[in-house]
This record gives sequence, structure tokens and C-alpha cells, in this order.
Amino acid sequence: MINFTVGPVQSSDAVRAIGAEQVPYFRTTEFSELMLENERLVKKFAHTTDDSRVVFMTCSGSGGMETAIMNCLSKQDKALVINGGSFGERFVELLTLHEIPFTEIKLEHGKALKPEHLAPYEGQGYTAFLLQKHETSTGVHYDINLVSDFCKRNHCFLIVDTISTFLCDPFDMAALDAGVMITGSQKALACPPGIAVMALAPSALERIEKTKCCCQYLDLKLALKNQERGQTPWTPAVGVLRQINVRLKEIDAAGGDKAEVERTAQLANYFRNKLKEHNLPFEIISESLSNAVTPLHPTTQSAYEIFIKLKDEYGIWICPNGGDMKDTVFRVGHIGYLMKKDYDQLIDAFLDLKEKKFI
Ligand SMILES: *Cc1c(COP(=O)(O)O)cnc(C)c1O
Repeated sequence: MINFTVGPVQSSDAVRAIGAEQVPYFRTTEFSELMLENERLVKKFAHTTDDSRVVFMTCSGSGGMETAIMNCLSKQDKALVINGGSFGERFVELLTLHEIPFTEIKLEHGKALKPEHLAPYEGQGYTAFLLQKHETSTGVHYDINLVSDFCKRNHCFLIVDTISTFLCDPFDMAALDAGVMITGSQKALACPPGIAVMALAPSALERIEKTKCCCQYLDLKLALKNQERGQTPWTPAVGVLRQINVRLKEIDAAGGDKAEVERTAQLANYFRNKLKEHNLPFEIISESLSNAVTPLHPTTQSAYEIFIKLKDEYGIWICPNGGDMKDTVFRVGHIGYLMKKDYDQLIDAFLDLKEKKFI
């Protein structure tokens, strides 16, 4: 099997080897040290300020999104949220559920974020801004500098879902003055699912201190207090946290986040050039691509049928889309343990399907 989805993705041999080990008891100094090292490396790769903190929540990325809202926002806020696909829609649903006043900026699928989208909200008293840096469902990589500048001018607290872009595209949390960054273990961290990683700037720590979180399990006050000594309030996904540790050290040894972003960019470009070279019947649907994924609209066959065919007959997994994009869009990921030769195999499979007039 070759997995080109956007998560869970393929893991390195060292990460998989940890998965085969017994899961150890965790209230130990060894595990605490590992957790503090995880915090230090995430801070380094996310380019946080020194006084920022990182916590590891046992839930998927969506749990991290909800945790951020429940711990940092209140009914006194007035939030702006970008909705350009299914993950933006999730922020909208969460803000609605938690009764945070908000305005939604709806973008057409595949379209980039432009200054004119933000202009009407200038000086209107907004206090918070939420967006995906990369809307994975449509493969649109938003102009985060545009949003960061808006937030600095308007004193908005910025919550960034970087779940599918962290380690794939450059990200500098301190320069952007972002309050919260969220990612998940099964995207570019290329570990099994189960952990949401949250980097919290001092502005977030202040908000957390003042906000009543109506969920004990996801209360960041408790998570932060415990993480001071490298621990968690409840039993975390211990095995996944050990795998994250191996993976973060692998990235560090290979040149850090910059080298990992570069490696991902090379894979993405390799695949995109091959697509052009072979004139395959797919159109790239995004105006602004991330290195993480290539979103494609097949012009001659249902996207879902192509996904099924590749899975069942070639042992290759591309990433299907859901909802109203099920038949029109599929995605090819560039995250996880993948090499150029894997893309050669995918292109060969596409060429075979073309030869057989399936596409
Ligand atoms: C994958 C993803 C999520 C959701 O993560 P889960 O781990 O499936 O809960 C949220 N936002 C973005 C941008 C994603 O790519």
C-alpha cells in the first residue's frame, strides 16, 4: 500500500518501531523529560516566543480546535472566521455551539483570501480571528500575513489551525503574533492519530487564565499546570507521544522545520511537474497551493471512482473528498514518509488508467 492521503499518513521506520513496543507507565521522570523535550522542539519549529507554552491534548485535531475556543473565547468576544471549506465550516459550527458571537467570511471553494475580503471588517470592534492557515478540503493556502496584519491593526486575538500546514509551509508564530497554533499528530508529524498539539502565546495564556472552561477534560489551565513538569492531568496517548518525540528529533537532526518544509515542497513540485508533463485529465482547483497537498478536479471521471479504483486495483490511496465535492475533487498528499519513487508509481497508475480509457 502507498498512502497519499492527508492523514493518517505513512510513518518512518523509527516511528513505527516505537509503535511495536510495550506502552510504558508514564508518571515517571523519563516520560516527563520526553514531554518537556517535545514542548521545546515544537516551540523551536513553530518559532514561538520563549515565554510561549505547548500542550499535548489527547484528542484529534478537531479537539484542539474546540479546546482553543472553549479556553480562549467568551460571549464578550466578537470573532471573525474564514469559511472556505469543511474545516472553516467546523470553526463556524464550534463558535455557534459555544455561543461565541461571530461573523463568517465565506469564500468560494478554491479561491484565495484577498485584502478586499477583510476590508469591510476594518475598525469594527472585532476581538478574535479564526482560520485554517491551509484549508485542507479545497487545498487553499491562505495569505496568513494579510490576516496577521489585520489582527495587529485591529487588536484581534488570532487562532490559527495549522493542522495540515505545520512543517509543510513556513510558519513563524512570533512574527505573526498568533495567540494559538493547533496541529495534529497524524498530519505532517506523520505519527498515528490521537494527539492535538497546541502552541500558546502569552496572549493566549492570559485569556486562558481569565476564561472559565466548561469542560474538565479539555481545560487548558489543568493541562498547562501539569505540563510545567512534563505531565498531563489524565492518561494521555502515551505511545503516540513517544512516537512524536522520535519524529521531532528526526526532523531536528535533518535540519529542522526549514529542511522539512523544503523536502515537502520538492515532493509537491515533483508531482505537479509530472502531472503537466503527462497531460493527465486533472485540473488543479486551488488558486493558492500549500506544499501539503495537490487538490485535483478530474475532467473525465468521478473523483470518488478514481479513488476506489486506485485503492482496490493498485493498492494506492489518494484522498477522497466528502460532501458536495465527492465526485469532483480528490487530493494527493505530500506529507508523511513518501519519496519521489512513490509518485512515479502513482503517475504510472494514472497513465495505466488513461490507457484503459478509465480516465
Ligand atoms: C485534518 C484537519 C483537521 C481535523 O483534524 P482531525 O484530526 O481529523 O480532528 C482540522 N483542520 C485541518 C486544517 C485539517 O487538515
